[in-house]
Amino acid sequence: MIVVLIRLVFVWFAQGLQRPAAPAAPTAVPLVRDPVCGTYVVPSSALSAGSGGATRFFCSEDCRRAYLEPPRQIAR
Ligand SMILES: [Zn+2]
Repeated sequence: MIVVLIRLVFVWFAQGLQRPAAPAAPTAVPLVRDPVCGTYVVPSSALSAGSGGATRFFCSEDCRRAYLEPPRQIAR
């Protein structure tokens, strides 16, 4: 019986020692480079074009459009 009491006291004491969990550190998010302007963007919140391994990410609609549109021929 005394052993059970000792264990209960120990468990209570151990729980009292536990500190509140520290706020989770922000997780590192890999950035990808906008192929048009070179800005690094977060893939989950960036505009994208393509799919699978060929997906490209863009900082803006302008950059995506510039990437998708074929380069204009220079008028002579
Ligand atoms: Zn851009």
